Amino acid sequence: MDTNPNLESQSRKGRILALQVAQSYHQQAIALLVSGFNGAIVTALLWNAIPASRLLPWIATLAAVTLARFALASAYHRPGLRRLLDNVDWGRCFLLGTFASGLVWGASGIFLFHPESFAHQVFLAFALGGMIAGAMPLLSALHPAFQLFAIPAALPITLQMLAQGDQVHQAMGLMIVVFTLAMTASASRFHRVNRESIELRIQLSDSIEERLVLDTIAHMDPLTGVGNRRLFDETLDGEWKRALRAGSRLSLIMADIDYFKRYNDSLGHPAGDACLKRVARTMDKAARRPGDLVARIGGEEFACLLPGTPAEDAMKLAEKLREAIEGLGIRHPDSAIADHVTISLGVSELVPHPGMVPSDLIEAADTALYAAKRQGRNCVVHAL
Ligand code: GH3
Ligand code: MG
Ligand code: MG
Repeated sequence: MDTNPNLESQSRKGRILALQVAQSYHQQAIALLVSGFNGAIVTALLWNAIPASRLLPWIATLAAVTLARFALASAYHRPGLRRLLDNVDWGRCFLLGTFASGLVWGASGIFLFHPESFAHQVFLAFALGGMIAGAMPLLSALHPAFQLFAIPAALPITLQMLAQGDQVHQAMGLMIVVFTLAMTASASRFHRVNRESIELRIQLSDSIEERLVLDTIAHMDPLTGVGNRRLFDETLDGEWKRALRAGSRLSLIMADIDYFKRYNDSLGHPAGDACLKRVARTMDKAARRPGDLVARIGGEEFACLLPGTPAEDAMKLAEKLREAIEGLGIRHPDSAIADHVTISLGVSELVPHPGMVPSDLIEAADTALYAAKRQGRNCVVHAL
């Protein structure tokens, strides 16, 4: 796990940026549609009022910028192409696109401003105000996208209005300034709230992930990777209650490596550990029905809990486990019964009833295991 606070905060910033960029590109389709649609309406309405030599280059530029931004968003949504840039660069491209769009819309305040028709001027101011207001929620995720769009979009028409000199135009120019400033303040607030919600989402997913990791560690035997005593006890408790309610049976196999002390003594502790790992993995692979649990519950002792399994099936599985361990052919130079590692197994089965406790199942399997040891080891015994 990353413990360097600098790296941690860098990676957190990177994750926040990744989500901000993703949000921005996901919302871009709406922005582009609105931009294209409004551009068409502005062109249609000003068709007879503004010379085509000004109107056509403007709409052509708007179409080119809109298409380029659309291509950029499409590339972002293709995983193969997205990998070509990192999030910082995708963010920069997005900002560049919004700035270009702001410039084109701002240019309408110069090139499409009708010098005499007040109605056309008001219409243009209204269209620009609408674009700026609509852009606020769509461009606020990534700072300063909104500012890069709104300021170049609003500035030229504001200057035009102020330059007209009369009171009405000056009042309108002032209103556009106030409106743009208010929208900018809202965008900053929107950005902050959105960032906080992203941070909370990241914190939540981290804490869920952390808990899952801690939970796994707490229930896993670190040497062999199978479940530990705690997992076994908790699972047995749960399965016991379930079986009590359902009136179903529970089977348990207890397995113990034969002459393991001698194995350690003759080959050393590390070899003993390696042997434990192989035995655990082999048992875990063999007991794979849903609900089956293999756990290391002691030094060289394993338990295999089998909910809903009748005694005959548990005996069959126990024999399969015994054969599988024999089949590994792990050399044991000092066993009294074979030249390889073997296990002894005890099997118990019961249907839980009120008044009984889970340890009844364990004790019965334990007794059977010791019977197997007494009977010469490397065998399976069922509890009486
Ligand atoms: P039996 O056939 O009667 O089971 O004899 P045994 O020698 O296997 O049983 P005993 O209980 O006398 O010894 C168990 C040994 O298991 C003792 C200890 O050295 C070994 N052991 C327990 N935990 C570990 C472990 O984590 N790693 C290793 N390498 N050995 C372990
Ligand atoms: Mg043993
Ligand atoms: Mg033992």
